[in-house]
Amino acid sequence: MTNLGVELEINQLEKSFGHLEVLREVDLRINPGEFIAIVGKSGCGKSTLLRHIAGLEKATTGEVKQDDILLDGLNKQARIMFQDARLLPWLTVLENVGVGLGLKKEWMEQAKWALQQVGLEERAKEWPAVLSGGQKQRIALARALASKPKLMLLDEPLGALDALTRLEMQLLIEELWLKQKFTTILVTHDMSEAIKLADRVILIENGSVKLDLRIDLPRPRTRSNPKFAKLEEEL
Ligand code: ADP
Ligand code: MG
Repeated sequence: MTNLGVELEINQLEKSFGHLEVLREVDLRINPGEFIAIVGKSGCGKSTLLRHIAGLEKATTGEVKQDDILLDGLNKQARIMFQDARLLPWLTVLENVGVGLGLKKEWMEQAKWALQQVGLEERAKEWPAVLSGGQKQRIALARALASKPKLMLLDEPLGALDALTRLEMQLLIEELWLKQKFTTILVTHDMSEAIKLADRVILIENGSVKLDLRIDLPRPRTRSNPKFAKLEEEL
């Protein structure tokens, strides 16, 4: 089953915390189902931008529109995933995946479906504590997926993983995006990860969009493609 992703329109978004200007004049159009990567130095405002799109932050000025409707309060179409899995230790793996689904009767079916998508259905009854870091991130991804969101927000979700696990998770995220067609915004420090996965890479500098680069490479993308290295240089 697929669901179309949302369209986003960010107009002249500005955000200050006290005297600290974190976002300045951010204008962005994101098409339904697009895979966007946001890159930039630590502290440049990436997470703050993502939090505005999630509806977790109130803009100082400017606006976020989703499917032509002004976003006001929590974004119900969005799910967000962080660098740490934030699983609840007193719930089983399956319960963690289903935690946002409410008490609808179907929650268990939907949570099982999501666990299957990340290849961990056989761990359903275990406690989070027995899982590896990579498995915990898979569970966090399943939890985000379980409600079939139209917008997936990923805030450096792979930053703490070893290289091999990271590679596996990149492939999984790409596969799920190709299948589910949700709009995806991935914040990452890793330029090659951005080029590997995204349709567009957006570079933020000091809270402004510095570069908006379209990535026209066939998938699956590998660094052996000479165009890949060229794009890496541009960023
Ligand atoms: P990034 O994700 O790119 O590393 P952030 O968006 O987390 O950057 O933060 C950008 C800047 O805003 C940093 O200087 C950070 O300290 C500051 N900041 C973020 N959130 C808050 C907050 N709630 N209150 C005050 N300052 C904040
Ligand atoms: Mg951040």
